[in-house]
Amino acid sequence: MSTSSNPLLIVGSIAFDDLDMPSGRHRDVLGGAATYSSLAASVLAPGGVRVVGIVGQDFPESHLADLRARGIDTAGVERAAGKTFRWHGRYSEDLSSRASIDTQLNVFADFSPKIPAAYEKSPFVLLGNIHPKLQVDVLQQARQPKLVAADTMNFWIEREPAALGEMLKRIDLLIINDEEVRQLSGVQNLVRAAADVRKRGPKALVVKRGEFGALLFDDAGTFFVPAYPLEEVLDPTGAGDSFAGGLLGYLSARGEVSPGSLRKALFFASAMGSFCVEGIGPSRLLSIGRPELAARIASFARLVDYGGDLVVPG
Ligand code: AMP
Repeated sequence: MSTSSNPLLIVGSIAFDDLDMPSGRHRDVLGGAATYSSLAASVLAPGGVRVVGIVGQDFPESHLADLRARGIDTAGVERAAGKTFRWHGRYSEDLSSRASIDTQLNVFADFSPKIPAAYEKSPFVLLGNIHPKLQVDVLQQARQPKLVAADTMNFWIEREPAALGEMLKRIDLLIINDEEVRQLSGVQNLVRAAADVRKRGPKALVVKRGEFGALLFDDAGTFFVPAYPLEEVLDPTGAGDSFAGGLLGYLSARGEVSPGSLRKALFFASAMGSFCVEGIGPSRLLSIGRPELAARIASFARLVDYGGDLVVPG
């Protein structure tokens, strides 16, 4: 039961991840885009996050209990006959790149998201990276959301351009990385690529650039948020999904969509991305609370505080 007046509905993968990190191998780690996004959002909007996804018979009930313990509503997580989605990633020595060694769709292959009646009126919706046709199906089940945000990836950009085009027409905010924006638009220059993507539907576009921060393009102009400089990064898996969860979690907690709140939300997005990479899998996200978030946001404010007067001298 949601205790928020503006709940956030998140749809996406729930997974077992096998992670090969320079520091060691990790097997059967709780993963998936919906997992990372919902954990990040739940810090900002406790009691206001609802997840729709699918798991197999092998998925421990304790993982779902861990999500519920963070105030996430898991009533929309379907349990199907078969195995849970599994992804195997291998990272480079400096963690700056990774290869997908194996992706086993398992129960995710026949996933057809069903939005429970109690979730239909979710004012905020985050469509994780799934087939764009399924993203549209979700929107057909949602009743007049205030804001719909979506993620996608190169796989769908290459293989499902028509379905992706339909999805773009129905969303307000697209959150993707710089490579994907270039691929989607066919334009190298990011500013022009962003303008092209915004003409296809989403009024606002957030371009994630990993350790180089993120750019927002909307009707109010262009805005930048840095990535939080960390001394140690353990595992970048899920950082993008945590970023999106932080962003939507902030907006749903505020219940407001405006250029100003979107700009503030980006700091919370970047903060949640930074927490995510501090642990293996979602371990750090599972342990932080509002005090840690408040402290990081305060350091963020200092990071970008130039003193208020930036005029050409003389
Ligand atoms: P990110 O690091 O933000 O790209 O997200 C990593 C998460 O995405 C991992 O936990 C994986 O389980 C999940 N993932 C990897 N490949 C896919 C895919 N093709 N579809 C959906 N989720 C995926």
